[in-house]
Amino acid sequence: MNVSLKFKILALVVLVLLMASAGTFYFTQRDVGSAMLRAEQSSAENVLHLADLNIRRSYDQLINEKVELLSQLKREMVHTSGMANSIIHEFILLNSYGRLEQQEAQERAKSWLRKVRFDDGELLLFDRDGVVLAHSRGELEGSSIANIEDVKGRKLYLAMRDDHLSLQGDTGIFLWQKAGQTTHSKYMGHFRPVVGWPWTLAVVVNFDNVEQESQRKMEAIIASLSDSFARIQIAETGYAFIFNGDKSILIPPPGMNLTRVAAEGGLSDSGQAVLNRIIEAKAADELAIDYIDPFSGNQKVQTFISYFKAFDWYLGVVVPSAEIAAPGNQLIQRHSIVIGLIMLISLGAALVVVFRIARPLNQLASYAKSLPKQDFSQAGSTNNEIQKLAQRNGDEVGRLADSFIFMEAAIRATIQQVRKEKETAIEASQAKSEFLATMSHEIRTPMNGVLGMTDLVLETELTSEQRRFMQMIRYSGEGLLDIINDILDFSKIEAGKLQLELQPFNLHDVISTQVEILQPQAAKKGLKLKCELPDELNTSLLGDPFRMRQVLTNLIGNAIKFTHSGSVTVTVLLFEQSDDALSFQVRVQDTGVGISPEHQHLIFESFAQADSSTTRNFGGTGLGLAISRQLIEMMGGTIDFSSELGAGTTFWFGVQLKRTDDAPCKLNFSRIVGDMPIAVQGRILVVEDHPVNQEYALQALKGLGVTVTLAENGQQAVELIEQQAFDLVLMDCQMPVMDGYQATEAIRQREAALQLPRMPVIAVTANAMSDDRERCLAAGMDDYLSKPFNKSQVGKTLSYWLSEDRGKGQLVAADTEEPVAGLPLPDDLPLQDDVIEQLRSMDADGTFLQKIINAFLEKSPSDIAQLEMGLELNDPEQIRISAHSFKSSSYNLGAHLLAELCKQMEQAGREQDLAGAGDLIVEIRREYERASEALIEIRESEYAAISGK
Ligand code: ADP
Repeated sequence: MNVSLKFKILALVVLVLLMASAGTFYFTQRDVGSAMLRAEQSSAENVLHLADLNIRRSYDQLINEKVELLSQLKREMVHTSGMANSIIHEFILLNSYGRLEQQEAQERAKSWLRKVRFDDGELLLFDRDGVVLAHSRGELEGSSIANIEDVKGRKLYLAMRDDHLSLQGDTGIFLWQKAGQTTHSKYMGHFRPVVGWPWTLAVVVNFDNVEQESQRKMEAIIASLSDSFARIQIAETGYAFIFNGDKSILIPPPGMNLTRVAAEGGLSDSGQAVLNRIIEAKAADELAIDYIDPFSGNQKVQTFISYFKAFDWYLGVVVPSAEIAAPGNQLIQRHSIVIGLIMLISLGAALVVVFRIARPLNQLASYAKSLPKQDFSQAGSTNNEIQKLAQRNGDEVGRLADSFIFMEAAIRATIQQVRKEKETAIEASQAKSEFLATMSHEIRTPMNGVLGMTDLVLETELTSEQRRFMQMIRYSGEGLLDIINDILDFSKIEAGKLQLELQPFNLHDVISTQVEILQPQAAKKGLKLKCELPDELNTSLLGDPFRMRQVLTNLIGNAIKFTHSGSVTVTVLLFEQSDDALSFQVRVQDTGVGISPEHQHLIFESFAQADSSTTRNFGGTGLGLAISRQLIEMMGGTIDFSSELGAGTTFWFGVQLKRTDDAPCKLNFSRIVGDMPIAVQGRILVVEDHPVNQEYALQALKGLGVTVTLAENGQQAVELIEQQAFDLVLMDCQMPVMDGYQATEAIRQREAALQLPRMPVIAVTANAMSDDRERCLAAGMDDYLSKPFNKSQVGKTLSYWLSEDRGKGQLVAADTEEPVAGLPLPDDLPLQDDVIEQLRSMDADGTFLQKIINAFLEKSPSDIAQLEMGLELNDPEQIRISAHSFKSSSYNLGAHLLAELCKQMEQAGREQDLAGAGDLIVEIRREYERASEALIEIRESEYAAISGK
């Protein structure tokens, strides 16, 4: 996946932000949330402590007041009892001084006591049996206090007996149901011994009043607590309430009406359950409990508990659980929003920054992309934008832009340098190829002479020594010619000028013939040359049999050359056979010297041999395999080998060739051409005005088995057809008097008028442009042959049109657009070697080549004169016709440059460009000079070679 830098940076920023936010969220949730929870809980606990303190303070106050009251009461009682005692003591003194009888003194003391009045209190005198002797209000006298116990559980009268008390006396609290009363009351009394008489003096105060007073104070405390509880804010809706050990509620939860609760007979069951739960929790020393609270609408609450023992009060501070967590949650929410906002803002900022960073990078990237489209071979400077980037940015981007500028300049310089070097190299290579081609071409002609002459000498009377020398010359000459041919091929291939033929041939025949040819060579060395070919190979394939043969010759020749004993075996493996094509592999296996591993990689290189001694021992140039490889690769195949030093070598090549229904041409690879590939029968009318072409056509048809009649123009042809029967017409198109088109039309009209069968008319044209073909067909011709055609092409065409299953309205011809045989190298050589070679091979004794050269040399001056006349008369049509005719005879002789100039002249005539034609005539004359010189040379050497035989 392609992800832009921009996206990656953004993704990184988002990732960092997300991680930061996630972290913040997490810690906020965890720490802030729990801190808030703790804060809420401790605030509830604080409320609890506050209330607790309040109660404790009120209690202290209550106690203080009570103690104050009691001590004051006690003081008063002590004071009163002291005073009463001192008065009674007076009576005792009066008795002891003898002024009063004891009885009298005691009665007076009692009666004094009866008269004493003391606010809320009363005075008593009782004896040692607890019988009341005197009472300040009088009504209790004679009653007993013997069954009263004080709060400490002592019998009061015994604890307070005069002989058990100290002089200061003692205080006691006790419950007393006075005689004639129905209820007990609480009393406090101060008891003193009456020293002298066995009496106890008591000052007694009803304590119930004091208790009532404290009860009132307690209610005031509860009321004030109630007030302060109402003001305390515990979370949102939390509250505090108090109940006592008897489970009666003292300060109710808000909204509870105690009067109504009392009227309804107490708390509901759930309410009771809550109180029980609190009491149990307190007993178990729990500080807080959770429950569903019926007092606050059945929400879940947490209640913090405190117990106040002195009052037996339970204090509950109740907080709804949801409210405890709420502040934390709200805080987290606020945090989240803030973090979210910060993240969005950061993202926005990051976007801006990233776009800023990415823009120049994009600029640089699209600039880099545009670089390959630039023409670096021209001078130029770096794009302005990039220069600005480099100037404006001091950072990495600027440095990058700088590097771009530097890089571009370096590329420009390098490319210009490389271009110069390439041009030089091409020139050098071309010069080399041209040199090689010229050299080999130039050497070949005299070599042929040398060989021919050697043959001639060998046929004369010679001494055996002379014969041996001459044979050595012949042998060396042949070897030299092979080398020259190799070099010529190689330089053609290197210059890309070698073209493969495409013609039907039989691979079985090609291989077996080649093996046959090389058989003597193998036999000479005592080697077995075997050949195993599958029958399926016996079929017509489309390809270049000559080049195939060249490869075979090289591989089998090498195998024989590098094998001293044993055998050479040629086999063919079939890979794929379809209706359209055949893939096969040809293997040449020998039992020879083999190739050492270190030399194997060199074998297909040009001029490479396995080792330097090869040339000495075996000869050769080291070009054969290089050429073979090039040829096989041009055929779309591959070539390779395996070898073991001392054990032998196997070379193989694999090719796929198309099948064809056309009969394979019979091939004759030797230079003495006799039989023709195709034998046909019929009477052929050749219509051709140009003597060179006439010669050519006649020779091409020779030996095919047909009879040939010649007509010089269309008019003559039509007349001849009226007089004689023909099976086929080969019709030139451009002719004086009546051209080929008109003649064909006339022939067709006659056939229609007389209801004759249609006779095949084959156009012979040097134009071979598609519109010319169309024109031929429109004029009623059946097929065409491009000039110059070779024997096999004309033979093929005739065999088709003269056979039974011909025609069917379908054209066979697909000859090459341009001159077929022409493989010029180099371009400025006046003649194409191959065409000459072809002409040479058109008859058995080579005289045809001389004949046609003569015809050309004879006719051409008049062709040139015709052209000049056209120019003089300013007659473009004349120019066109003459140029056309001269063009086709030039092609026939391989004078390709001359033909090319004629073609241009023909075009100039067609376009009525007289000025252009005027320029061309000069060049035509000059090129004709060159071509004719070369032809004369060939004729001479042919003559020499042939006449010598
Ligand atoms: P040459 O003209 O030298 O034979 P080739 O290109 O045909 O050139 O072969 C190149 C070299 O490859 C030969 O010189 C030889 O050393 C080696 N070679 C080719 N074929 C064989 C073979 N069948 N056995 C051993 N060596 C071979």
